[in-house]
Amino acid sequence: MSHSAILRLPTQRVHVGDIAIGGGAPVVVQSMTNTDTVDAEGTARQVYELAQAGSELVRITVNTSEAAAQVPRIRKILDGMGCDVPLIGDFHYNGHRLLTEFPDCAQALAKYRINPGNVGKNRKGEDQFAMMIAVARQYDKPVRIGVNWGSLDQDLVVRLMDENARLAQPREAGEVTREALIVSALESARRAEDLGLPHDRIVLSCKVSEVQDLIAVYQELARRCDYPLHLGLTEAGMGSKGIVGSTAALAVLLQQGIGDTIRVSLTPEPGGPRTQEVVVAQEILQTMGLRSFTPMVTACPGCGRTTSTVFQELAQSIQNYLRMQMPVWREQYTGVEEMTVAVMGCIVNGPGESKLANIGISLPGTGESPAAPVYVDGEKTVTLRGDNIAAEFQLIVDDYVAKNYARREAGDKPGKRIEIKAV
Ligand code: SF4
Repeated sequence: MSHSAILRLPTQRVHVGDIAIGGGAPVVVQSMTNTDTVDAEGTARQVYELAQAGSELVRITVNTSEAAAQVPRIRKILDGMGCDVPLIGDFHYNGHRLLTEFPDCAQALAKYRINPGNVGKNRKGEDQFAMMIAVARQYDKPVRIGVNWGSLDQDLVVRLMDENARLAQPREAGEVTREALIVSALESARRAEDLGLPHDRIVLSCKVSEVQDLIAVYQELARRCDYPLHLGLTEAGMGSKGIVGSTAALAVLLQQGIGDTIRVSLTPEPGGPRTQEVVVAQEILQTMGLRSFTPMVTACPGCGRTTSTVFQELAQSIQNYLRMQMPVWREQYTGVEEMTVAVMGCIVNGPGESKLANIGISLPGTGESPAAPVYVDGEKTVTLRGDNIAAEFQLIVDDYVAKNYARREAGDKPGKRIEIKAV
């Protein structure tokens, strides 16, 4: 089924290590660790896991001298593991001091996140902001000016509220607060440029926790500047609430061509994997047709025609298998991420959906004969029966990959994300 491509709004291109953000580059997926950065091994391990899951940039907290001292070591451990994902340092309150007192940390990081609401007040705040920009210039690093609803510069809010009160027709308080977020980001960016940071070293974000506010703020931000924008619903929450909120907000903005890099700020379930936020971010981009990361499984929801869980188990095992295999396939073949697989529960929609996918299987519904026809590129090739359907279907998928995707030449290393094709 053809659909029109999303037209991305033009933005300045910024390079973060090897990764390009904006200027027509594919929308970049990023994430953040929740380990104590002082624990260099534990942090490096989680960065590695996030990168393996597909995070193209990983942010780490740099909040103390002890944490800043460990950053070069984290970089070294990752390099030793063959993981070149750029690290972003998240600075608040004392970033000026940490970046100047720990030059190896400043050098090891690929970008600095600066929150204008947390750099200090008045003259002192201006000086501390200037110190961070001076370090960025010295090491030729980009910065993200990351404004956040929860730490918005209250002096700025008061100033805008006062100005608003003097208007003949004052705007609503919520609108003024949204304006304060935008002004904070834009004024800080202009100040960074006045201090000598090049225009193409600045990424902006204005994160809020309400979907409609986020959409309104970013639409306005995109209208007023050409800095690449980092999207994310802050404090999105846990489980389906966090996923749905982030998807709703990001999908609307991405559809309008807004957003050059995204993060899905999920609170992990206790004991749950941190990497889930990366999977969700990738799935948002892939389901919207913006990028391809891993073969997608189309599965029907099941209904009264499927009284057993066989088809749910098969859909899950195939989805897991594809995700697990993808890092291996990516090394060996080109284009596997665009493969489509269908796992359907019965004859009603099964054969139709299966024929549309590269590989599809239509399982028997209740009362149907215990046979599962398999379709490859629209043609029925085999009918599986018995207890081994999952394993046999997996072999068919492996065979399809080997026969249909070009092998990479030696030296044709995947993973230079700046070269990933936007779809
Ligand atoms: S394909 Fe069959 S089992 Fe699946 S939802 Fe449709 S009718 Fe139900």
